[in-house]
Amino acid sequence: MPSTTRKNRGTKRRKMDEPIVINNFIGGVMVPCQDHIDSHDPSTGLVWAKIPDSGQAEVDAAVNAAQAAFEGWSCKSAQTRANHLLKVADILESRLEEFAVAESRDQGKPVWLARIIDIPRCVLNLRHFAHAIPHHLNTSNVNPEMGVVNYTLREPQGVAGLISPWNLPLYLLTFKLAPALMCGNTVVAKPSEMTSVTAYMFCKVLQDADFPAGVVNIVFGRGPSAGQALITHPQVPLVSFTGSTLTGKFIAQATAPMFKKLSLEMGGKNAAVVFDDCDMESCIATLKRSSFINSGQVCLCTSRIFVQKSLFKDFLEKFTAVAREVKIGPPSDKDVFMGPLNSKPHLEKVLRYISYAVEDGGQVLCGHGVEILDLPPQNKEGYFMRPTIITGLSDKSRCMQEEIFGPITCVTPFDTEEEVITRVNDTPYGLCASVFTSNLARGHRVAHKLKAGTVWTNCWLVRDLDMPFGGVKKSGLGRESTQDSLEFYTEAKTVCIKI
Ligand code: NAD
Repeated sequence: MPSTTRKNRGTKRRKMDEPIVINNFIGGVMVPCQDHIDSHDPSTGLVWAKIPDSGQAEVDAAVNAAQAAFEGWSCKSAQTRANHLLKVADILESRLEEFAVAESRDQGKPVWLARIIDIPRCVLNLRHFAHAIPHHLNTSNVNPEMGVVNYTLREPQGVAGLISPWNLPLYLLTFKLAPALMCGNTVVAKPSEMTSVTAYMFCKVLQDADFPAGVVNIVFGRGPSAGQALITHPQVPLVSFTGSTLTGKFIAQATAPMFKKLSLEMGGKNAAVVFDDCDMESCIATLKRSSFINSGQVCLCTSRIFVQKSLFKDFLEKFTAVAREVKIGPPSDKDVFMGPLNSKPHLEKVLRYISYAVEDGGQVLCGHGVEILDLPPQNKEGYFMRPTIITGLSDKSRCMQEEIFGPITCVTPFDTEEEVITRVNDTPYGLCASVFTSNLARGHRVAHKLKAGTVWTNCWLVRDLDMPFGGVKKSGLGRESTQDSLEFYTEAKTVCIKI
């Protein structure tokens, strides 16, 4: 955690090992909350932070502050707004290590992962939208026949409500925050109650960057109280949500009568298709990452692997051997590949799916219940499990249909291209898929037929922020990218002038 600065009003130095007490960030100042929720370090099970248990009153205060700041912020040029964001990005980058350590402690991911993926991506989110949005704001068209010039204004909407999950805490929050701000909106954000610490540290970065007060407000707390108060607030015209399909459905229902603009990034049941002409070594290395990185808790993680029959046996042997070698342990160890899952209830949920798999006739080839999990004494109460590979399940079984969101992947054989396309598409989700083949034409063909927001061929999780991101079916509504976010966080107005 950063040391206390003159601006950290409402915060005081804490003793080592005392839980961090988090405050809300409203109108540019840290505002203590009366009630708190315990937040556990997933690698030990010990309480390490106390999160505000905010409700309607805190959300009202934050929305009022954001509304008061809207006029001043929305009237600034895009370049001025960009300069503010770039200053925040620079300070955040200068504190990369402390943010990486805190993200790891809060979420459970290895520190190296937060150091090379999460926090650099937060910096990139701020810089990308700061640079990209000013060039995309308005268009114009002269129509000589009608004797007019038309131009559009992409106008900010007011206070944007941002709700984010616990798996990529600051990464996903800044992916919403940066375009919302660049488009001229002010913001009230509610991070996940499971992982609030880096968002709190980020408030201090905003203060140190002299970010205009009230433009960003962060209210911490639970979904059904703080989250619900935010999404249903009459002065919040747009809501960007990332989280589970169940919560997304609730938000869609609760906000529909209020005609709010919604962006919903939700769950997935992502498949990989492995053809027998693929580069097997590279495919297995990619699938190890796509199945088990962040303990399988990335919305884009692979949880169904379809392998062409001629390769099936060989693939299973090699992939299982790789999974058995995955090192699990304290997230601060530099050679640990997988830390704990994020919470005890989540671990219990994920483990239940292994029982379901056995009930449904599957065989657990490696992982939980097969190999011993050897942990240091201080991590015995942490929420760890081994990467688990299951085979022998029908496509309709629970593990093949429902989002597990943990380090469990199911492997199944297929014969033909047509067959595998039908089977991959046979789930309620459609976030992403990956295809492994050395036949370029087949790569394109299959990608065109898979019902998913993103299809990778011979790679996974390669993201270009200019490219649309989002899901189909129960995985999402709307897209996020330079252009898509610009459209979401603004409304276009056409101005027509007779010349
Ligand atoms: P979740 O739906 O439980 O919570 C997400 C956020 O919504 C949290 O901040 C939570 O407090 C809030 N929330 C919960 N109930 C609410 C309510 N009634 N009103 C308003 N807000 C409410 O999801 P989670 O467990 O934090 O995250 C895991 C899920 O997120 C997985 O399903 C995963 O696939 C999904 N996810 C999707 C993407 C994507 O881009 N599609 C990215 C990351 C995670």
